[in-house]
Amino acid sequence: MTDERRILLVEDEPKIADALKLGLTENGYTVTLAYDGSIGYKLFKSDTFDAVILDINLPGMNGYELCKAIRANNPQVPVIMLTALSALNDKIEGYDAGADDYIVKPFEFKELLLKLRVLLKRTLHQNIPVGNVLKAADLEINLDSREVKRAGVVINLTAKEFQLLEYLVRNKNKVVSRADIALKVWEIDFDTNTNVIDVYINYLRSKIDKPFETKLIQTQVGMGYILRD
Ligand code: CA
Repeated sequence: MTDERRILLVEDEPKIADALKLGLTENGYTVTLAYDGSIGYKLFKSDTFDAVILDINLPGMNGYELCKAIRANNPQVPVIMLTALSALNDKIEGYDAGADDYIVKPFEFKELLLKLRVLLKRTLHQNIPVGNVLKAADLEINLDSREVKRAGVVINLTAKEFQLLEYLVRNKNKVVSRADIALKVWEIDFDTNTNVIDVYINYLRSKIDKPFETKLIQTQVGMGYILRD
C-alpha cells in the first residue's frame, strides 16, 4: 500500500470537473476523471481507487446506477455523490444505491475535502475494509476469520498462499508484476533467480481455480499475473 490516495471523479460538467480535479490534485490526491458514467465504471473496474466522487445526472449511466454497479463490484470503497438535487428523496435514493455521503451543489470545496478525509480515515484506520470480506467473482476472503470460500466451498490455504491471494484480490482486474508481488507479499526485492512466486501461484491455482470452471488467476506473458472477477 502506498500513501498515494487515488480518486475516481465522475462529473460531466467540464468546469466543475476540472476545478475539482485541480483542487484535489493540489491537496495531494491522484485524480482520474471521467465525464461519462459508463466510462467511469470501466475505469473503476480497470484500476484500484481509494474513493469515488460522482455526480448524479451523468450521460451513459447515471450516478445511482454507477454507484450500484460500483457497490456490486466493491462493497468497501468510499463513495461521495455530488448533486444539484437537494430533495430528501434524492438523498435517500443515493444512500440506497450505496453512497457513503452526499454533497449538494453549490458546495464549498473545503466541505468536500473534509468529507473525503473522514471517509478515507475510516477505511485507513481500520486498515481492512468495512465488512472485512474481500470478494472477486464467487471468491470470498474473510479477513477476520481468515476463511476463504469459492462458490460457498471452504478452501484451506497456508498463511503465504492467503497473503498472496489477498494481494491479488485487492488488486483485482489489474496486472501485478512478479516484482510487485515479491515486494508486497514477500517483502523482498525481486530476484530473477527465484521462481518462488510462480510456485505459489501454482499452489493457489490448484486450490482456487482447478476445481472450478472459471479460472480467476491469469498469466499476462512478460508482465505478471491478473486476477479477474
Ligand atoms: Ca451532471
